[in-house]
Amino acid sequence: MATETTDTATAVDHLVIGAGFAGVCAAIKLQEAGERDFVVVEKDSDVGGTWHINTYPGAECDVPSQLYSYSFALNPDWSKVYSPQPEIWAYVRRVAEESGTLDRFVFDTAVLDVAWDQGAQRWLVTTTNGDYAARSVIAGTGALAEPALPDIDGIDGFQGEIFHSARWNHDVDLTGKRIAVIGTGASAIQLVPELQKVAAQLDVYQRTPNWIIPRNERRFSTLEKALFRRVPAAQRAARAAVYAMLEARAPAFTRFPVLQVATETAAKRNIRKAIADPGLREKVTPAYRAGCKRILISNAYYPALAADNVELVTDGIAKITGNAIVTKDGAERPIDVLVVATGFHVTDPPIAEHVTGRDGRRLADVWDEHGMAAYKGTTVNGFPNFFQIVGPNVGLGHSSMIFMIESQVRYVVDAVRTMRREGYGAVEPSADVQQRWTDAIRERMRPTVWTTGGCASWYLDKFGNNTTLWPGQTFTFRRQLSRFDVEKYDVEPVTHEELVTA
Ligand code: NAP
Repeated sequence: MATETTDTATAVDHLVIGAGFAGVCAAIKLQEAGERDFVVVEKDSDVGGTWHINTYPGAECDVPSQLYSYSFALNPDWSKVYSPQPEIWAYVRRVAEESGTLDRFVFDTAVLDVAWDQGAQRWLVTTTNGDYAARSVIAGTGALAEPALPDIDGIDGFQGEIFHSARWNHDVDLTGKRIAVIGTGASAIQLVPELQKVAAQLDVYQRTPNWIIPRNERRFSTLEKALFRRVPAAQRAARAAVYAMLEARAPAFTRFPVLQVATETAAKRNIRKAIADPGLREKVTPAYRAGCKRILISNAYYPALAADNVELVTDGIAKITGNAIVTKDGAERPIDVLVVATGFHVTDPPIAEHVTGRDGRRLADVWDEHGMAAYKGTTVNGFPNFFQIVGPNVGLGHSSMIFMIESQVRYVVDAVRTMRREGYGAVEPSADVQQRWTDAIRERMRPTVWTTGGCASWYLDKFGNNTTLWPGQTFTFRRQLSRFDVEKYDVEPVTHEELVTA
């Protein structure tokens, strides 16, 4: 099936989808590489991606900000070790603004369709705000962008206020309300302590407990900030120390899960310190190896659960009525507000629904057959010049995603440079190269805690494969992507004169 580039589409060299950390990084690095003809389309009204959207009370980063920031834009002004959402959003916005790329960003523009036009060697990208014909598409749509709503009997008939943690309704006054939170993941453990402070009654519905270790939080002193500002090498050293500390944790996830016993001990101490009730202690203690699900950090969650106005409900939800949640034991708990903190669509990313490749096949259909797969987490056979940032097996359980994003963006920019230099109109990884990569990843997944840890997690797809996380050290990933390895790609020369630019 051939798609034809229409006359009305705006021709651009590169179209970046999403203005989160990945999209902003891509824009900056494309510009630095001398690529001037690109746009960044973003469905929301500003940059920031997940850090623009997730405004729930208590939203903070669980990776130290010294590392959860671009290597090329250190921020001496972080207020504390783990920054709150408004600070991270302001940071990424400032970096975008200071880079001089913001005029390439088109906001309030959702991508509807991305189809390869073989004749033109371009992607025809249909958006809610006009069409583009792009030589390459760089998708920075984020792995944790589309809320997953629970399929619970009666939820549509709930008459009170209901919203997802990633779509917080700030118009709802929560003071003195009876609130329920479904889910006890990374988002929930941050918002529960905030809700506990204002709610008349807070019911927390837990399906599976998580391992939660203490948060070594502290504010940066004025002196430290001044030092970071005046001596950037000092901040580089602080960043390197955080990197090394987190990287040292990787083998406990990827090769020797038994080492997670140390984490479990710290988490159990965290429980004992905050919770006196033996029944509650038991309910919050996981029965699987730490690291199998994301290890969470909090000093506030357990004390909140132990508060008088909070009940941890573990009986399982049977249904939701107009004004209450009914559990499987028949108990009915009336509520005014329902917060669903039930996570995101990860192994079935919505962007894949919109992308149609060389043979007229949708990426979602290709991935539905065998699970998500991409060469080096970035490129997919049958989808020329389509680059995914934070694609399959690029996620992390132990360090900063910004490191992975920068690694991928370097690779993509090198691909763009190579194409220009060599006069290629289309590049895609050959099928066997991609298969070998995927097979190697699967092999390396075998001893990991995500495979052996005895839990169900959002890292695993419907086939039971972990298609989300990188099973190794982050520096290995960076090394693998240090150069665009064009010899592993099927290439086509440019067939359109207009594509050959200086
Ligand atoms: P999540 O970790 O996927 O947690 C979802 C929670 O909802 C789990 O407790 C899950 O229980 C529960 N749940 C899902 N469907 C349910 C249903 N039908 N009935 C009852 N319970 C249900 O989602 P999240 O908390 O939004 O976090 C997602 C990821 O975002 C994190 O792992 C992390 O990578 C990222 N995040 C990061 C930060 C940060 O500080 N940087 C903060 C928030 C989120 P089960 O465990 O039983 O499935």
